[in-house]
Amino acid sequence: MACGTEIAEGAPCVRWRPSAKTFTDWISLIPEAAHSGPSGYVCACCAPWLKNTLLTATQQCVISKHGAWLLRTDAARAWLLRSPPEPPFVVLISDAMKQHLIWRAPFTLDPALLQIQFGRRTLRIDRALLERGERAAAEAAEIAREHGLKMPSRHPFSSLDRSRADPVHGVLRTDVVRLAANQPSLAARLETLRQLGEGELWALAILSKAKTETPAATPLTLKRTVDG
Ligand SMILES: [Zn+2]
Repeated sequence: MACGTEIAEGAPCVRWRPSAKTFTDWISLIPEAAHSGPSGYVCACCAPWLKNTLLTATQQCVISKHGAWLLRTDAARAWLLRSPPEPPFVVLISDAMKQHLIWRAPFTLDPALLQIQFGRRTLRIDRALLERGERAAAEAAEIAREHGLKMPSRHPFSSLDRSRADPVHGVLRTDVVRLAANQPSLAARLETLRQLGEGELWALAILSKAKTETPAATPLTLKRTVDG
């Protein structure tokens, strides 16, 4: 089902019968699995992911071979961005009530390029570019402030929204852009910020908050065994 592996005769597996009315993620499954539909079987490794306990517990987390950590707070997300665990790992962040994320999540194999399954979208974060962007954002805000603009944030964007829902998330402020026309040093910083993709902008929303978070790792623990 989830991994698409062939289940050999006699191998442990479970029958899977999601309700056709409430299950809406057929499109996320590989075609062969989707075709087997409600009468399909799931391999032993994927079976725990069908349980509500595990699904609920892993809506905001990073999972690696060595452990799992929660990503519910900005402090925890700052920890992931600043010092990710040893790869390979997967990062899951839901943007709605309860989502099947593990089925879509790609592995991060190189910590220089983080891959984050953010709801239905996969965000990619080039950490070197993010670092340049973080510096450019702070310097741009400082230059704009020196030239008399009111800069309540540590960045020159209209908004940086970690939920990515704000329509002006990642849009540069027009007064700052106007000022940059006569300020080459500011223009250079804005040029760096224009190179940031949706992943880096999401990360910047966490790292460039007015209140700086101290990165903190929070281990994910399940209250009981995953059996129901
Ligand atoms: Zn499987």
